[in-house]
Amino acid sequence: MEIKKGIAVSPGVVIAEAVVLDAEDYRIPRKTVEAGEVEGELERLAEAFETSIRELDSLRDATAHQLGKDIASIFDFHHGVLTQQSIREQIRGMVRERYCSAAQAVHEVLQGYQRRFLKMKDALLRERVKDVRDIERRLLRHLVGNVGEDLSRLEEPAILIAHDLTPSQSANLAKTRILGLAMDVGGLTTHTAIVVRSMGIPAVMGLTDISGVVSGGDTVILDGTKGLVVVRPDETMLAEYRQEKERIQVAVLGLNELKDKPAVTRDGVEVSLVANIEFPYEARKAIEKGAQGIGLYRTEFLYLRSEVEPTEQEHVDAYREVIHAVGGWPVVIRTLDLGADKYTQSQSLEPERNPFLGLRSIRYCLQNLEPFKVQLRAILRTSLEGDVRIMFPLISSLMELRQAKMALGDAMEDLEETGIPFRREMPIGIMVETPAAGLMIRELLREVDFVSLGTNDLIQYTVAVDRSNEKVASLYTASHPAVLRLLRDVVRECNRAGVPCSLCGEMAGEPMYTLFLMGIGLKQFSMAPGDIPEIKKIIRSTTMAHATKVAKRVLGFDTDRQVTNYLRDETRKIAPEAL
Ligand code: PEP
Ligand code: MG
Repeated sequence: MEIKKGIAVSPGVVIAEAVVLDAEDYRIPRKTVEAGEVEGELERLAEAFETSIRELDSLRDATAHQLGKDIASIFDFHHGVLTQQSIREQIRGMVRERYCSAAQAVHEVLQGYQRRFLKMKDALLRERVKDVRDIERRLLRHLVGNVGEDLSRLEEPAILIAHDLTPSQSANLAKTRILGLAMDVGGLTTHTAIVVRSMGIPAVMGLTDISGVVSGGDTVILDGTKGLVVVRPDETMLAEYRQEKERIQVAVLGLNELKDKPAVTRDGVEVSLVANIEFPYEARKAIEKGAQGIGLYRTEFLYLRSEVEPTEQEHVDAYREVIHAVGGWPVVIRTLDLGADKYTQSQSLEPERNPFLGLRSIRYCLQNLEPFKVQLRAILRTSLEGDVRIMFPLISSLMELRQAKMALGDAMEDLEETGIPFRREMPIGIMVETPAAGLMIRELLREVDFVSLGTNDLIQYTVAVDRSNEKVASLYTASHPAVLRLLRDVVRECNRAGVPCSLCGEMAGEPMYTLFLMGIGLKQFSMAPGDIPEIKKIIRSTTMAHATKVAKRVLGFDTDRQVTNYLRDETRKIAPEAL
């Protein structure tokens, strides 16, 4: 038995057999084989080599034909590695002597070479690591096939162990029998985490080497609440966790009883709880959990789930589904937030050096006006069917907001010309997720109808910590005094100006921060639907007077540790089970 500690990103406990993907998404079903299977593995290995060599030969011929012999010689290195007897012998030796499966042996040997190339002093030689990785992927493709087809064909429910998954890959997990997810990399506010949480799939990330520790078929306990993965658990551990699963089920049933009760404090202050969604089908679930509308619809997932850009009508259909599912409650449609960790096919062809500081979100839209206007027209076309509001993400200056509004104006003109009706006075909001927007809030408030604090990004840009990098995850915290002061200032300015302010980062669904956020005067929280009952319970267990006192005390602390300890203690006093 081995216990691994990572970052708890999606709560719940699941117990099942593991399915393992290696770093390049190839599923290596078994790390070892029986003695009697060795010969068969060696034959499969030989075939994989021969097929790869044939493939390379025809690639080289085709390239030589189209681009000339010099360019085609880039395949010589690949060919050389695949025909090198010593490398092949090393891999065969692992199968024969250590009973490794052919795929595992290829993976280990070629990973070893990749590590050696990475240590080379010469930059050109270091570049060779990509070629070796390519060779590994080619061989693995012939030995084990590719993940996409595999996962959708799982016959038994399983826990997925992976090095990393993109948000779009994780979006496809809904169609599989995957019960839980454990990854080497990633953290709480990555979009992969956000997606699995919205699907209710328990997950642990930032485990460093979980994909190397677990073999396909191992029994695994995944505790997404505590951030633990137990590999090959013993009977005592299994019995404990079976009980824990039952305890969680009972607690969830208890919380669901709050569904129709208001989120009101004991001294009568009401707070609005709305939901974040990524896919239209979640809207109904959100209302069932007690959401009073959709505070953030991450529309870019329309792009990430498909290979081609959605048409205007596909946008309209998706928005309509959400609007109709919420029965009159407001729907805040956030315009495309592509880039950073959410790449479309075409964006991924030109990777940026610093994608979180690059051409993402509203910046991408303003440089790609045509697809942006397709979306804006679609939002406008549905604006008379419900309480639709539009929100621009990642605004960092007034000019950007004005340009986005101009694009919206153009989209309105397009519709007018074709005689399509829409709501001209549709409320327009912005996300405050850059320190620049926070510092310029007074000026921005004069030009918007509402504001939503996107703390997932606001934290990363305020403390300069990549939200998706598990190596600096301990520095990424909402408890940082600088973040808390910025939040206090923005909420205060919004309240003074009478402009509604919401908070839609993951922080809104974290019980530990509820008291503080209420205490600084936040009136609307937008979160994953599954978090609503818990947060409502905390609100109903406290008073506004208490929350105000807590916030005041928190703002006097100098370090995040003091903040976290204090908020944990105060929350535990009113809702011990929430933490
Ligand atoms: C945020 O940044 O807080 C936010 C809600 O947007 P996203 O997580 O999609 O970047
Ligand atoms: Mg954001």
